[in-house]
Amino acid sequence: MVLADRCVMPEAMRALAAPRFGALSAPFMQPVIARPLPNPQLLYLNTGLAQDLGLDRSWGDSPAALPLLAGNAPWPGQTAFASAYAGHQFGAWVPRLGDGRVLTLAEWQAPDGGPVELQLKGAGPTPYARGSDGRATLRSSIRELLACEALHALGVPTTRALALVGSSLAVMRDEPEAAAVLSRTAPCFVRFGHFEFHARHGSPQQLAALADHVIEHHFPYLVQQPQRHAAWLAEVIELTAALFAHWQTLGFCHGVLNTDNLSVLGLTLDYGPYGFMERFRPHHVCNASDHEGRYAYTAQPTIGRWNCARLLEACLGLLDKQPEMAREQAAALLLYYDEIYRSEVMRRWRAKLGLREVRAGDAGLLNRWLTLLQRGKADFTLAFRNLAGAIQIDPAETLILLPPGQDAALGDWLNDWRARLASEGAVPTERAAAMRRVNPRYVLRNHLAQAAIEDAQRGSSTKLQRLLAVLARPFDEQKGAEHYAAPQREGTELEVGCSA
Ligand code: AMP
Ligand code: MG
Repeated sequence: MVLADRCVMPEAMRALAAPRFGALSAPFMQPVIARPLPNPQLLYLNTGLAQDLGLDRSWGDSPAALPLLAGNAPWPGQTAFASAYAGHQFGAWVPRLGDGRVLTLAEWQAPDGGPVELQLKGAGPTPYARGSDGRATLRSSIRELLACEALHALGVPTTRALALVGSSLAVMRDEPEAAAVLSRTAPCFVRFGHFEFHARHGSPQQLAALADHVIEHHFPYLVQQPQRHAAWLAEVIELTAALFAHWQTLGFCHGVLNTDNLSVLGLTLDYGPYGFMERFRPHHVCNASDHEGRYAYTAQPTIGRWNCARLLEACLGLLDKQPEMAREQAAALLLYYDEIYRSEVMRRWRAKLGLREVRAGDAGLLNRWLTLLQRGKADFTLAFRNLAGAIQIDPAETLILLPPGQDAALGDWLNDWRARLASEGAVPTERAAAMRRVNPRYVLRNHLAQAAIEDAQRGSSTKLQRLLAVLARPFDEQKGAEHYAAPQREGTELEVGCSA
């Protein structure tokens, strides 16, 4: 057995390594054996995360770790599986999807008591691969790794990246590309699409069993509630609305907001052609394959609601036996989405502008500022970050470069904003510091990810490690890291599409 070495898995964890989602078995999932990865090479191990999850300090260095993370050995005592889900992709119903290139290697309980699911992405085709190779490119794996860890450091709920294993294997995309296996963790990876799948293909009992499983393990405080399914759906709606509000205020665009990419825990999940918006454009589309702009930045909150509607539709039978009553409850839950989204997004925008009090004119003040950013083609992240420095002094001309003749509008806005702060009795240095705690200096820009990818394709993980270190402290000014805050030059934007 690969895990003969004691240091590999702590005793306590071994005892707790009972399958959780895996316990549901068919028709929820099918067992999978990963396909061997030739010449595996550990390119990255998230030692902090490994420790938080209860893996020994020495785990990553033990000879047993690499075969596990490459998909070259099974996790002792557990059967790997891939799960079945469906989804609405770009608005169209797709009845059978599932983990085509992802398998769950292990599930256990972390030292903090929380459930952990460890997945390998790119470890070969599963029964849900639908003829595809089950592999992932080194490029897309690095993009997912970087985004999970960048969003996590920004405080956004997300799946996490545990490790990246490179290989001599090449896979065919537009051209042959290096393959890799990414290991990622989350309390669970259940998607809206899992519920859509069982609503369409399974019995009402099957759907209820899935909901009860999720409630028992991830919302245990709801188990005793008389209307536990309705209470749980309200939680999912709330988590989703809050997540989308958080993304909007960071300029984060997911790129592929299909229902099969939405987590029932409100985590950012499945990173493909995502992007942090640079130049502020409400209709910015980060996914080059999204020709109609369905998932444009400004459309994301409405899409979040649309996806919640699909989840509720699938779960009508869990809400009430009488269809009419169930539909009424679902409609009320969608209104709840609107309410949470509105309050969360304004709470976050206010904090970004340094405002503490809730006042009637807040949305107007915000919208005038956003219009200025748009006209001035300002970098979204830097404009907010630099605004903190404009509380007292007047760097209007360096804040945003507006087209000739429009700087008066910026001056007027700054005056109104400062007057508003003064009327709240703000201490400028304190407010500026508070603004810098919510407006990052460093976000994951596509050109930075691309440089790390090209470095890794040449066999070096130096740029990847350095970038991860910078992104781990997005709100701190970091000496020598100025280059990481710089926007991509206009006209040199990288196109990122769905090929992965
Ligand atoms: P994604 O766009 O990555 O969220 O994937 C959408 C669906 O396609 C999911 O069911 C994936 O498992 C599946 N899929 C994507 N790429 C592959 C691949 N290379 N091999 C097998 N399945 C894949
Ligand atoms: Mg997906």
